[in-house]
Amino acid sequence: MAKIVILGAGYGGLLAAVYLQKAGEPFAIINKHTYHHFTTLLHEAAGGRNDVDEYAVQLSEILPAPTSEVIKAEVSEIRPTENQVLTNQGTHTYDYLIFALGNAPEFFGIPGLAEHSFLLRSLNTAKEIRQHIEQQFASYKEDEDPTKLRVIVGGAGLTGIELVGELVDWIPELCSKYAVPKDEVEIINLEAAPVILPMLNEKLQHVAYDVLTKKGADIRTNTKIVRVGKDVVELASGESIEAKTIIWTGGVRANPLVAQSGFQADNRGRAKINQFLQSVDFENVFVIGDSAVFIGENGKPYPPTAQIASQMGEKAAENICNLIQGKPLSPFTPNLKGTLASLGRDLGVGDVAGMKASGIPAALLKEFTKVKYLYSLGGLKMVSQKRGQWSRH
Ligand code: NAD
Repeated sequence: MAKIVILGAGYGGLLAAVYLQKAGEPFAIINKHTYHHFTTLLHEAAGGRNDVDEYAVQLSEILPAPTSEVIKAEVSEIRPTENQVLTNQGTHTYDYLIFALGNAPEFFGIPGLAEHSFLLRSLNTAKEIRQHIEQQFASYKEDEDPTKLRVIVGGAGLTGIELVGELVDWIPELCSKYAVPKDEVEIINLEAAPVILPMLNEKLQHVAYDVLTKKGADIRTNTKIVRVGKDVVELASGESIEAKTIIWTGGVRANPLVAQSGFQADNRGRAKINQFLQSVDFENVFVIGDSAVFIGENGKPYPPTAQIASQMGEKAAENICNLIQGKPLSPFTPNLKGTLASLGRDLGVGDVAGMKASGIPAALLKEFTKVKYLYSLGGLKMVSQKRGQWSRH
């Protein structure tokens, strides 16, 4: 019997596992944690919308089949010429591998950035950001240090903008809880490019900017961070801004294990793959999600989104089943459904199936995508469990 190993239980790895489980094909999935967390919703967790732990679901709940094995371990090395994966819990061999280890933060070599900023990447980092901000508000009365009430978010892509939206909606709660004057709070979003949310059209970019600015955010475009120190960012203009909370949402690159394991990679470290999602170097290894670069018909790479990672996961699993059954491989054809960004708890902006949406309708569409994803993982049971938790707050 062929041995299938999936590395990573993010959107790509998990959807591959769900596909294999439905197909009755045995597999092992190796992941750092025993749960899958909702990466695209971490801003809600960091910004106080619901309890952080509610943004995860145990893998055993989604993958209960006796033919699936969940291994809690951290991958340290892949030896594709020997069909081996090394982890902190031992070595595993495979006949087919799905590499779905996601991305790593991109710091662009900016001095001090990695050392002095928070990242929004996991349940733990969401918790850190949330607790840290709350501590600053809680201790403000002791010395009235204005930098405690200043939060800097570096980067105005989807992650940065959704986080800023969440923070501005959380501030009134924090201010009343700790008796802090709301006028003293500053949520500053610094973006090097001339626009925010570059994947949306100009009109929607303006909508997002106006909504967030009205809610109290200070969004500064054409403002590049060039150096970061403890509680201070320095800008290309020479200005520096002091803040006790500095969060970096300025970009991602592939997991370094791609290049370290000898896979051919592009300049952002992403593995080169063919139309069936196989590594161009090893045909029994499928690389999916943010660790791979898939070139579209226009010659440009697709952006690293959860949507594409999930679709790649299903296709990689399907193609492994095809290989096992001696059937021809099926090419990956992404089905781009659009982009939606939340702008806090009740508003959003986006472009779905060619339709532009903003305000409450966009926020509702975003809620619908959450339900659809939960359904794909665990049917109605999963939808009602999570919706129940999230609606309590
Ligand atoms: P990003 O690369 O999309 O955006 C980062 C932003 O930071 C850019 O606008 C960039 O100009 C800015 N920046 C870079 N260096 C800077 C500097 N020195 N100073 C100031 N600004 C700087 O990063 P992201 O938002 O983390 O998103 C990463 C990928 O993940 C994207 O492809 C995005 O579409 C995807 N994503 C998807 C979802 C989802 O599927 N719902 C959610 C979040 C992110």
